[in-house]
Amino acid sequence: MTNTLARPSTAGPGHGDAFTAHMVSATWTPELGWHGREVGPLTPLTLHPAMLGLHYAQVVFEGLKAHRGVDGSVSVFRPDRNALRFQASARRLAMPELPVDDFLAAVDELVALDHGALSDDPSHSLYLRPLMFATEPNLMLRPSAEYRFLLMAFVAGGFFGDDALAPVSVLISREHSRAVAGGTGDVKCAANYGPSFVAQRAAAEAGCQQVVWLDAAERRWVEEMGGMNLFFVRQGPAGTELVTPGLTGTLLPGVTRDSLLTLAARTGYAVSEERISVQQWRRECAEGRITEVFACGTAAVVTPVGTVRDRDGDWTVGDGTPGPVTRLLRGLLLDTQRGAAPDPGGWRRV
Ligand code: PMP
Repeated sequence: MTNTLARPSTAGPGHGDAFTAHMVSATWTPELGWHGREVGPLTPLTLHPAMLGLHYAQVVFEGLKAHRGVDGSVSVFRPDRNALRFQASARRLAMPELPVDDFLAAVDELVALDHGALSDDPSHSLYLRPLMFATEPNLMLRPSAEYRFLLMAFVAGGFFGDDALAPVSVLISREHSRAVAGGTGDVKCAANYGPSFVAQRAAAEAGCQQVVWLDAAERRWVEEMGGMNLFFVRQGPAGTELVTPGLTGTLLPGVTRDSLLTLAARTGYAVSEERISVQQWRRECAEGRITEVFACGTAAVVTPVGTVRDRDGDWTVGDGTPGPVTRLLRGLLLDTQRGAAPDPGGWRRV
């Protein structure tokens, strides 16, 4: 079979369309469990129009990256964490879990075949997209009896364009919520993302690049941003501290968030997971207590937040330019991913 879908990006790397030549596929049935894993060309799928996942959103996915190291080797960053989160997402959606070893084997197979698409440009990476969806042709409101797993990849540049350290502007979303207690905010299911697009569009219409989500109950506590977690850099009595909202069940436990908590603590910063209200964010910026805010995620790496827009006005974080802690942690994370800084413990899968 020839490959019909791999293509050069129409808009440059970073836009999610520079797909590589191959994909991994596997199937789940009640009789055989997960079986038939194979790697082949990235090709169109033939699917039944009544495929349950298409109607009822029984679809989960992941996002992780392979990097070219300073020694030329290619390694995937903490894929075991994504494998576990993929399992948690599947459990929440009443889907079968893919064993961690199968997830890692699929990642190894695809990277082994397609790593050549990754240039030596250090700002490029290979973004890997595992996906699982319900394939049974049945419109009953119940979990599917058949599933498909796919893994594809695209070459990624900077999520926010070429100037990776350019601060972004954010809009606090007052109209929409991303997640509620007891919902699916802490897993990575497709149904979390489609409904976020109107809020993202509202942010763009307000002249902002990203949307900040608040808790749905009180609309007071900062949860996360678009597809990223948030960190606040604060000057406390004991020096510089890093604060990120705790994992309350309504925000995604980011692998980058977890990595930065470790790297920041090892660097000597005090780190804590605490609630931060919008009011506090604004006040402590005015007081000079919060000096930097940054977002983090697989796609965004570490991205400074420069200005915040809320219903009753705007404010600037620090002087609106990337601060020293943001720069340091971004550099440390990138160095760790590329093997230019010590691996804190099995983070790079070469
Ligand atoms: N929050 C949301 C809603 C996301 O989609 C992502 C991206 N997976 C993140 C945070 C960051 O997670 P990670 O660091 O694992 O990419």
